[in-house]
Amino acid sequence: MSGVIAPAVSSTTDLRGAHLSRALRAVHSSPQALSRADLARRLGCTRATAGALVADLERLGLIEQKDVIVSGGRGRPSTLLGPSANGPVVVAVQIGTDAVRAAHVPLTGGLVDAQTRPLRSHAVDDVLAVVREVLDSRLDALGARVAGVGIAVHGLVDGVSGEVLSAPGLGWAGPAVDVLGWLGFRSEQRTHVGNVATLVAVAESVRGRAVEDADGVGQADDSGSGSGGTVLVLHADVGLGGALLMDGRAVTGRRGLAGEYGHLPFGTRDRVCRCGARGCWETEVDQVALAREAGLTAAPGAASAAADVVLAAMTSTAGGVSSGDQVRSAGGWSPEGDTEPVRTAGAVSAVPGAADLADGQVQVDPQRAADAVHRAAVSLGRGIGALVLVHDPDLVLLSGHAAELLRAAPQVVREAITADGGGRSGLFGAGYGVPPVQEIALGADAGLVGAAEAVFGALLDDVSLLTTGWVRS
Ligand SMILES: [Zn+2]
Repeated sequence: MSGVIAPAVSSTTDLRGAHLSRALRAVHSSPQALSRADLARRLGCTRATAGALVADLERLGLIEQKDVIVSGGRGRPSTLLGPSANGPVVVAVQIGTDAVRAAHVPLTGGLVDAQTRPLRSHAVDDVLAVVREVLDSRLDALGARVAGVGIAVHGLVDGVSGEVLSAPGLGWAGPAVDVLGWLGFRSEQRTHVGNVATLVAVAESVRGRAVEDADGVGQADDSGSGSGGTVLVLHADVGLGGALLMDGRAVTGRRGLAGEYGHLPFGTRDRVCRCGARGCWETEVDQVALAREAGLTAAPGAASAAADVVLAAMTSTAGGVSSGDQVRSAGGWSPEGDTEPVRTAGAVSAVPGAADLADGQVQVDPQRAADAVHRAAVSLGRGIGALVLVHDPDLVLLSGHAAELLRAAPQVVREAITADGGGRSGLFGAGYGVPPVQEIALGADAGLVGAAEAVFGALLDDVSLLTTGWVRS
C-alpha cells in the first residue's frame, strides 16, 4: 500500500481505517462522481490502492457505482463512484426564529424530505418540543440508517458544551439551554449543535463556493472568482453573524463563539440591539431593520415576511402592494422588542403614516422601500469594507438576507465597501484590494447542509461510526 496518504497512526487497523476515511471523505465531498483514477490522484496513491479502498467502501455500503464511462479510442470502460444514497444519514434541524426546518442528509450531501414547522412561541420548551417531534418521527422512520444529528441554532453556541448561551432572535437571554440534554441526547461525536452562520460557512466550505480543490488553491466557480484560502461568510436574517474560513476550516475561537459580526459597533449609538448593547451593526442591516426603515413593524417571528414585502415593494410597478396573505402565513407579529409573538390576523403591521394596512394588505411605498433597501445595503457594504481590512479575504460570501440585499442593490453594497458616502476610500484608495463579493452557492438551506456536514466531518474520521447505527442515550 502506498505510504503517501498515511497519517501518523500506529497499528495496521488504524492505518486501514485512516485510508478508508480519506477515500470516503474525497468521494463524499466531490461534486461529481469519481473514477478510481480520479480517487487515486486525489489521495496521492496508486490505482491498485484506490481500487482496494473502493472495494472495502462498497462492501460497507458507503459508496456505490454511479455510471460507466467509456473514454475515446480503445480505452477500457471506467466505473464512476459516488457516495451511497441509501446508506447512513445525518438528520439535520435548523431552529430559526420563525420556524424549525428539518431534513435528512445521506452521504451524497443533498437534503431529503425537507420539512418546515412554524413556531407558535419562542419559549424554550415550546421550541424544543417542536424540534423533538420533528426529530422523533424522522429517527423512528429511518432507524439504524441514522448515524447522527446536527442542529443549527440562531444563537450563541458554546463550542465546548454545545449549550446555547443566548439566542436574541428567539428571546433566549439565559440561562444557557442544553439543547441536546433537553432532547435526551448525549453530546458526542455523532451530535453537533452550532450557530447557523458558522454552519452556513461550513456548508460552503464542503459543497459551495469556498471549496478547496485538491491542490488547496481553491475551486473557481463560473465567474472564476470562487476560492478557498481565506473566505469571509456573512449570514443575516434576524441578526447577522458569520465565520471566517481559512483553508476550508471555520475559525471558531476559544469557545466556538467567534463570528458575532452583527454586534460590532458599526451602527448608530441611539439604537439598542436585541443583545442589549447600543449601536450594533445588525440593527441597521437585518430583516427587522429593513422592515423598520420601510415603516413596517415585525416581530422576529415575522421579520422574514416583512423583509420580503419591502424587497417586493421596491421592485413593484403596481404601487408597491404586497399580499397580506403571504405575510399572514408566516406567523404572528408584535411590536419590536417584544420577544413573544402575538397572534393576530396579520403578520406584519404598518406604522401609521408610513403605509396602509387594510383588508390584510400591507402596502409599502416603492420609494420608501427603495430608500430602506439603500440604507441597509450601504450599512452592509461599509461593514464588509471594515471586515475586509481586518481579514484581507480572497472572497466574501453573503447568505440569507445579506444575499437578498446584494441581489437587490449590488452596486450600492459594492460601492459602500470602499467609500463611506463622502467619497473617501481610505486604504482602498491606496491599493488595498477588494475581494469579490458573491452570494453563497447553497441558498436558503445552507444552514441545514452545514449542520449535516459538521456531523459528517466527525463521522468521516471514523468510518465504523457510519456502519453502525446510532444508539440514542
Ligand atoms: Zn447586539
